[in-house]
Amino acid sequence: MSETRHNWTKEQILEIYNKPLMELLYEAATIHRLHHDPNTVQVSTLLSIKTGGCPEDCGYCPQAARYHTNVEGNDLMSVQQVKAQALRAKSSGSSRVCMGAAWRNVKDGEEFDQVLEMVRTINKLDMEVCCTLGMITENQAQRLAEAGLYAYNHNLDSSEEYYKEVISTRGFEDRLQTIDNVRKTNVTVCSGGIIGMGEKIEDRAGMLVALSTLNPQPESVPINALVAVEGTPLEDQEPISIWDMIRMVATTRIVMPETQVRLSAGRTQMTREGQAMCFFAGANSIFAGDKLLTTPNPDVNEDMKMFELLGLNPQKPFIKKMQPQTVEASESQYQALGEKPKWSRPEHKIERNEVAKAKATK
Ligand code: SF4
Repeated sequence: MSETRHNWTKEQILEIYNKPLMELLYEAATIHRLHHDPNTVQVSTLLSIKTGGCPEDCGYCPQAARYHTNVEGNDLMSVQQVKAQALRAKSSGSSRVCMGAAWRNVKDGEEFDQVLEMVRTINKLDMEVCCTLGMITENQAQRLAEAGLYAYNHNLDSSEEYYKEVISTRGFEDRLQTIDNVRKTNVTVCSGGIIGMGEKIEDRAGMLVALSTLNPQPESVPINALVAVEGTPLEDQEPISIWDMIRMVATTRIVMPETQVRLSAGRTQMTREGQAMCFFAGANSIFAGDKLLTTPNPDVNEDMKMFELLGLNPQKPFIKKMQPQTVEASESQYQALGEKPKWSRPEHKIERNEVAKAKATK
């Protein structure tokens, strides 16, 4: 019941997802207890180090330059600004800082060097460092690892089939390639997706097949509920029910017993009771801070009150894996290769993306 399997099928996962709820919760909670301390939850702070102006067309994202949303773009933050935010996050209970940049892929050069310095700086604060910077090559993954990166986030977003209904500017196989590049280093993988984008339950199961059949499975799997932002192609999507979230969390826990299942975007739409059910179902990680990149998130004090109420404790850093060592830039074994990999551009037409783009140019 509790071993990690890498051969889950969509049918098996659907069968789990659709179990009577009490059965599903009992099974997920039992597996959760076999692999994790059920009273400990990892707390991450997500920091948007470069906001907006992204060339991609992800239908859920207010940072895509082609849609008209009220997100204000920002250039890359300085290392000092990031350090100040990391210290603030640490003092309010976060063990991890996740830095997000609205890039299609990483380009070697000054900006990436600056991100590497941010990684070094935060690792030296004895916090886990995660980055989400778009597609990366093996060399870039090695350079991040050497700087002291703990995790790299690259979400699959949905099933391979439904992904094509949401994004047309990059291919699903490139997501897998980036994860593979990260796997060639000692950096852990964080990869999950979003529910509530209009996908079928089969797509949710399909995404879990893609994630759970990776070997090793991702160490962290964020489950986001879509936050429908005005101006994006998915602005009119109805919020998903809490029961869908609970089922998705429980199913993720069962098929990936060792992973940290992260309650991510959409927590402002959930009650405390709903979140408590998610923790019971196996979620053991949250994002803290009043913003998740650009969308709202519960206030950190509210989260700490919820932890107190539920008897939860924030997880200490480097519990699951040793702290990586930081190699200074001057002693680096790796040089920027200036590679220009040909990441795919399917460019098929997604009608709602086209409509949102046309509205933005009016
Ligand atoms: S999700 Fe990332 S890649 Fe997609 S548009 Fe937003 S910032 Fe760009």
